[in-house]
Amino acid sequence: MPLTAHQTEGRSRVDLFEYQARDIFEKHGVPVLGGVVATTPDEARAGAEQLGGGTVVVKAQVKTGGRGKAGGVKLAHSPEEAAEKASEILGMDIKGHTVHRVMVAAGAKIAEEYYFSVLLDRANRSYLAMASVEGGMEIEQLAVERPEALARVAVDPTVGIDAAKAAEIVEAAGFAEDVRDAVADTIQKLWTVYQAEDATLVEVNPLVRTEDGAVVALDGKVSIDENASFRHAEHAALEDKAAADPLEAKAKENDLNYVKLDGEVGIIGNGAGLVMSTLDVVAYAGEAHGGVKPANFLDIGGGASAAVMAAGLDVILNDPQVKSVFVNVFGGITACDAVANGIVQALDILGDEANKPLVVRLDGNNVEEGRRILAEANHPLVTLAETMDGGADAAAAAAHAA
Ligand code: GDP
Ligand code: MN
Repeated sequence: MPLTAHQTEGRSRVDLFEYQARDIFEKHGVPVLGGVVATTPDEARAGAEQLGGGTVVVKAQVKTGGRGKAGGVKLAHSPEEAAEKASEILGMDIKGHTVHRVMVAAGAKIAEEYYFSVLLDRANRSYLAMASVEGGMEIEQLAVERPEALARVAVDPTVGIDAAKAAEIVEAAGFAEDVRDAVADTIQKLWTVYQAEDATLVEVNPLVRTEDGAVVALDGKVSIDENASFRHAEHAALEDKAAADPLEAKAKENDLNYVKLDGEVGIIGNGAGLVMSTLDVVAYAGEAHGGVKPANFLDIGGGASAAVMAAGLDVILNDPQVKSVFVNVFGGITACDAVANGIVQALDILGDEANKPLVVRLDGNNVEEGRRILAEANHPLVTLAETMDGGADAAAAAAHAA
């Protein structure tokens, strides 16, 4: 399916796990320590052995901060102890996130903890770099308690963080003379990560100076802009299938092209072109009905059978944001009568689960028979529309009234 403005509106960002951020950092030359992912205590033991058998840190891999405070980051001085710590951390609940994986990371002897991030500053149509020599604690807390300790430096998107900008950042944050060069160098590499991976956030907390004077990124948070996914085939593997939108997962299982959007009018069509124009007319019609918008993009493709229609309707009706549905189908190889039968049977299959007004507009092959079937079925939730604009208007009105 081609990428279009509408579909991309529905895409957002993928937050990476720390171990994924670590791997990406390593790929771009950011100094990191060894790390191995484990899903069982045995794997954690093996990971610690792989890292040399010395001191390691066992870290919960959940997409939330404050793991340290919650007991999700623990030192272990032997592979055996790494297994023990892993068994304590695995299954733990951290701010509503269940821990399914840990990262066993080489232990660092920390002398100082710093903070660095670069992010998209939408309001200023720019990027923003933030840095502090008081890292470790959560940045929101630092920003509130000691705002003067957090340097904020605007980054021109056309220039990025070059040597001069990196020097400006370390200066503004007040890094000590002996780490300035190493920090500036690391910041430039983190900028490479940000740019090369199409990130919207790269954050390192803590960036540390170790006792032997090295600067190392000990914790990484990276958010990737899904709008750029066409440039990064490799990013698909980074998505956490379990945490992805369950409706999108369900649609995928049924081979439906489904993209969740933010609005209230569910849309089912056949063919990407038709679905796309349906999104447009619904968005336009919505302006006259309280500003309701399309809730999704769902293309049932060529085979609008009862089963496919039922699967499609099931996905859309289960989206709590959806207030009405607009089915806009052009009968081709699958003629309108088959589509109409599909809709009637789908409503039968769904029974009480079908509980939102449905506006149906059919056109194309066998359209008269298709309309006759729907009229005869006379389902209380279904309204027939003659035209695409009329259907969009009726669906938007129904969503607004709901
Ligand atoms: P967060 O609490 O979710 O941000 O997890 P972090 O990865 O930032 O770890 C929390 C804290 O654990 C850090 O600020 C460090 O103080 C400590 N920590 C993390 N890795 C190491 C390590 O390798 N060695 C030591 N000594 N402490 C570590
Ligand atoms: Mn951290």
